[in-house]
Amino acid sequence: MSRIAYVNGRYLRHGEAGVSIDDRAFVFGDGVYEVCEVRGGALIDEDRHLARLARSLSLVRIAAPLTEPALRRVLREVVARNRVCDGLVYFQITRGAARRDFPFPLSAKPGIVITAKNLDPRLNEARAAEGIKVVTAPDERWARPHIKSLQLLPNVLAKQNAREAGAYETWFVDKAGFVTEGSSSNAWIVTAQGRLVTRPLDGAILPGVTRATLIEVAARLGLVFEERAFTLSEAFEAREALMSSATTIALPIVAIDGRPVGEGQPGPAARALRARFHDTARRT
Ligand code: PLP
Repeated sequence: MSRIAYVNGRYLRHGEAGVSIDDRAFVFGDGVYEVCEVRGGALIDEDRHLARLARSLSLVRIAAPLTEPALRRVLREVVARNRVCDGLVYFQITRGAARRDFPFPLSAKPGIVITAKNLDPRLNEARAAEGIKVVTAPDERWARPHIKSLQLLPNVLAKQNAREAGAYETWFVDKAGFVTEGSSSNAWIVTAQGRLVTRPLDGAILPGVTRATLIEVAARLGLVFEERAFTLSEAFEAREALMSSATTIALPIVAIDGRPVGEGQPGPAARALRARFHDTARRT
């Protein structure tokens, strides 16, 4: 079955779908995006993803090409046409196509592309059971990573470095030695004293939707939670570490830069947060 994409008002087979070579996403990375988990055919935490998309659009001053109810309908249609049961829906909005020039074009209409795909849930379950490894790198991204923008070259390079080092994710570390986040995930530790810690929304990280829901899950589990920055040295001493994102939920981290975290095995807090996530997340 060939995959179907929604491209600027039309549903097209991927092989036939395309956008202009003048699209500013292609030329400048001038656009924003979202990735939402699909589970049992339902969108997970859709409201939070749409709220973040609206914030990203407003921060980069792109007008929404569809109303929110229309966008919700199209997201469902793309999920249905691709028969996605467990997987993701990806949606990106660009400033549109115009002759190359840096200032905002006067006439371009914002562009939108939506795709969806199935993911094999067994892959994530295997990662969760074994735990994953992370490596670290200086955070050399632009100063506004709280915007979910299409400019992801530093993230791409960081993810590739992780893979080449036999790891699954790279954690970025700021100049003061504090962990910011992963190349496509938020970063967490459980301290030696048993406190669950993740960095606050201080502008240096993406406000992860999964992060927000996991904070609610932690409260339900009765975990002691602290929203504060933690250093890499503290992570080396942590009892547990984990990463979160919409497509991976919560994955336990068993090694950082080749050093085992805690016992070097997935820990109980990471396992519990993962197990309870979908009870708390909203299905729509
Ligand atoms: N941080 C970065 C840099 C990301 O790219 C992502 C997701 O792609 C996240 C965090 C996690 O965000 P969410 O939980 O909304 O997927």
